Amino acid sequence: MAGQLSDNIVAHTWTQPLVLAENIPTRADIVVIGGGIVGVTTAWFLAKQGADVVLCEKGHIAGEQSGRNWGWIRVQGRDTREIPMMLESLRIWEGLRDEIGEDVGFIRSGSFYTANSAQQLHARESWVQIAKDYDIDTRLIDGTELKQHVRGSAIDWAGAMFTKSDGRAEPHKATPAIARAAQRSGATILPGCAVRGVETTGGTISAVVTEHGTINTSTVLCAAGAWTSMFCRSIEIDVPQLRVRGTVARTAPAENVLNGAVYDDRLGIRRREDGGYTVAYGSVLEHPLTPSSFRYFFKFVPALMQEIKNLRLSIGHEFVDEWSTPKSWALDEPSPFEKTRVLNPEPTPSVLRGIRRNLDAMFPQLADTPIVESWAGMIESSPDVIPIIDVIDSLPGFHVATGFSGHGFGIGPGAGKAIAGMLMGKETGIDISEFRLSRFFDGSPIRPQASI
Ligand SMILES: Cc1cc2nc3c(=O)[nH]c(=O)nc-3n(C[C@H](O)[C@H](O)[C@H](O)COP(=O)(O)OP(=O)(O)OC[C@H]3O[C@@H](n4cnc5c(N)ncnc54)[C@H](O)[C@@H]3O)c2cc1C
Repeated sequence: MAGQLSDNIVAHTWTQPLVLAENIPTRADIVVIGGGIVGVTTAWFLAKQGADVVLCEKGHIAGEQSGRNWGWIRVQGRDTREIPMMLESLRIWEGLRDEIGEDVGFIRSGSFYTANSAQQLHARESWVQIAKDYDIDTRLIDGTELKQHVRGSAIDWAGAMFTKSDGRAEPHKATPAIARAAQRSGATILPGCAVRGVETTGGTISAVVTEHGTINTSTVLCAAGAWTSMFCRSIEIDVPQLRVRGTVARTAPAENVLNGAVYDDRLGIRRREDGGYTVAYGSVLEHPLTPSSFRYFFKFVPALMQEIKNLRLSIGHEFVDEWSTPKSWALDEPSPFEKTRVLNPEPTPSVLRGIRRNLDAMFPQLADTPIVESWAGMIESSPDVIPIIDVIDSLPGFHVATGFSGHGFGIGPGAGKAIAGMLMGKETGIDISEFRLSRFFDGSPIRPQASI
């Protein structure tokens, strides 16, 4: 596994040379598929409890969503079903540096959802009421108080919803650092090791088949991010999931105009540990249509209606790519997971122009600050925009953890703790019943509470 990155170039997470795994173990108590924050934190919690765990990642640790996100760690605005897990997650982030002995850039610097009018500010009141039920410090602040936190903006906001205890961390550092901690606790972490499929004996899991050989195991967690639906479909498990592309940019270090994370319809911006800003066009969600868009259309109608203003549909190579990908494959031949080691979409030029324009309009004092890096990531979402964490009854020994949508980085450590509990049969105090896969098939209403 690659060592600690010494620079701030986000893309180094996925552009460093990939060394394929060698000498893989022939057995494990538990095999985790996927080296994003969900798989890695699960492996860390498992290893700390003494489980013999092997994690297989087809590309780089944090090479996909977990290394590309905005780095917001917030409870503010969440779906109520995620709140207990998120509060536990914040507690884990808080103690992470001491526990793993590495800095991941975590700081409780607050999150702000701005309001352009008194009416918009008033509309934020409903979540403030929710926060009270959970003893969360969320409150509405007026434009004058907002100016003390967000300095020199050209926008005269009416105010914001503010949660002081929310935080931020550096995605390109966090998941690799937790993976190293998992290794030190005894986990085997294998980047460059695609899992092609599973073997069963008497209808239950008996092994996973990787590109480098077979690992005998009775317990598998599929935490394959944007690939979960495809992986599961190849073994006849239906996991509804779609992808949206997010374009992100990073500025050079600049004047300190804010310390936390600010969401405005025109811009999502957070201060970075290196003194720059991670910026994105907050309200643009690009969905390249694929055959899955049509297969899962009806399940995603509620999310679609909610995001209709922000959604930009397109049709391009993604449709053909998915169409031409086989639905299943022989396990002794290269699989689609080796073909695309890293899902690395191009940032969208028009969105990048919009980010620059809105950054300059909102913070004129940053107009000369160069954007030094840009990238994109495919965000995967479930139909109700909250995770799917479950045991798969039809295939004993197989488990799924996916669907974390645009907010899985922050909740990752709490999810990892809860998932490790599910796999070890141990109580963690975090209720995961709301995240069962069957909610999409048993007639339960599909009701997203938060946006993607
Ligand atoms: C642009 C963007 C902005 C975001 N902003 C935020 C934010 O500010 N705050 C927040 O909380 N969340 C944010 N998110 C969401 C967050 O990044 C994700 O929810 C989270 O990282 C998901 O983690 P994961 O481990 O489930 O998936 P991933 O990080 O995608 O990891 C899955 C891994 O599985 C691997 N894999 C897949 N198939 C196989 C296979 N067959 N064999 C081996 N390995 C396999 C993949 O290569 C991948 O590395 C954002 C996401 C994006 C893209």
